[in-house]
Amino acid sequence: MTYPNTQLFINGQWQDAADGKSLAVFNPATGQEIGRVAHAGIADLDAALAAAQKGFETWRDLPAIERNKIMRRAAALMRERAGAIGALLTQEQGKPLVEAKGEAMAAADIIEWFADEGLRVYGRIVPSRFNLATRQMVLKDPVGPVAAFTPWNFPINQVVRKMAAALATGCSMIVKAAEETPASPAELIRAFADAGIPPGVLGLVYGNPADISNYLIPHPVIRKITFTGSTPVGKQLAALAGKHMKRVTMELGGHAPVIVAEDADVALAVKAAGGAKFRNAGQVCISPTRFLVHESIQNDFAAALVKYTQSLKVGDGAAEGTTMGPLANPRRITAMAEFTQDAVQHGATVATGGARIGDVGNFWQPTILTGVPLSAKVFNDEPFGPMAAIRPFNTLDEAIAEANRLPFGLAGYAFTKSLKNADLLARRVEVGMLWVNMPALPSAEMPFGGIKDSGYGSEGGPEAMDAYLNARSVAIMNV
Ligand code: NAD
Repeated sequence: MTYPNTQLFINGQWQDAADGKSLAVFNPATGQEIGRVAHAGIADLDAALAAAQKGFETWRDLPAIERNKIMRRAAALMRERAGAIGALLTQEQGKPLVEAKGEAMAAADIIEWFADEGLRVYGRIVPSRFNLATRQMVLKDPVGPVAAFTPWNFPINQVVRKMAAALATGCSMIVKAAEETPASPAELIRAFADAGIPPGVLGLVYGNPADISNYLIPHPVIRKITFTGSTPVGKQLAALAGKHMKRVTMELGGHAPVIVAEDADVALAVKAAGGAKFRNAGQVCISPTRFLVHESIQNDFAAALVKYTQSLKVGDGAAEGTTMGPLANPRRITAMAEFTQDAVQHGATVATGGARIGDVGNFWQPTILTGVPLSAKVFNDEPFGPMAAIRPFNTLDEAIAEANRLPFGLAGYAFTKSLKNADLLARRVEVGMLWVNMPALPSAEMPFGGIKDSGYGSEGGPEAMDAYLNARSVAIMNV
């Protein structure tokens, strides 16, 4: 599929920026410019805001079953178009086609689950403690127009998790998706437009991220902010939202510990954690990163993980058989080189990988570092790339203390055959999501989100719906 130029979507119309400005989009496998994306200015944002207000008033007043029908039609279109959309996603982001198509298919599942959850947004009747002639009601209403800011690693998934919950509750939304990967989120919006969503309910803009967030967050039309990205940017946006008393959901960075206990099934741990590690070239907020392995099995585990890593086929995501694509942008190559160099300087060993591949595109060898001291950068800052750092532990308490040492608290993994260990880990590891004896398997019906510096709020389960609802009390005395 030819890669398109991406326009803004405002008030039900695809359009260029009012001042005609645009930005280049590059294919990370070739480094070549493949298209352009419109760059919104204030006039475009004002138009999107006015449309979002009108769109909210229309959408809020539709019966939930009518919203459900439109959402389900959009889901069906995503499924029908998943192959073509996946091909665009791979061109702009780099991940293998199978992962890209899977992301578009998963979007359909997410939309459907939230569409149905939207049918069950009920209030409640609470008997009065003072007078039974008083009818006390709890009403659940949509918060209003939402501003969503999403990153480039899962250009569709990061948008759809926010959008599906917002639409299911009756909110309108302006999405500022990532400028580096604009075409695939535009296809998600197109599915809703083709499904008949009324004008203004969804808006899509691109431009300068800081200029757009500084304009939208304080704006009186916007009632709720949702952001996925790095912890430093999330803190800035949450602070601005707090200043203007806007509700927020923050899905931020992580540094997932993987605890491989003495009694773990090593082959399972390698397959599950290795698969999760290199998916999307490790550019995943829940990617396993800090491998804490019991000292009695660390050599076996490291050798098996190295073998697994060396079996990966790195290449253009669009090529047959590729299991790991390029990194999404040149910044990640610089970051991988820095992490590796720093780890080696601190005494770590590069067991495999550790270097850029070629000089065309952003290819980095999948990398395993062993004997990594806690002082190394890779054990403290989120690597956000195809890099696993391993160090041994002696007691499970020591591993738990290390898992909890960092301010992050997004995802964690553990491998153990003991129910007692699994229970202890479930209670003590400070993460929003823990997977034991399995790879990460997030789904629409389970809460998705972090604690501590990894953010707050959830993008899955009924909790994700609550994030877009106001609960109001109304009492009526029967006089
Ligand atoms: P970055 O911190 O510059 O940007 C992260 C995301 O936030 C991007 O999508 C960017 O467009 C957006 N952003 C940046 N400043 C913004 C602002 N003022 N207002 C609104 N949006 C803004 O980092 P990057 O180089 O793009 O990505 C690298 C780091 O970001 C990674 O190390 C990782 O920690 C984090 N990240 C996390 C996720 C995630 O899924 N949680 C996704 C992508 C990136």
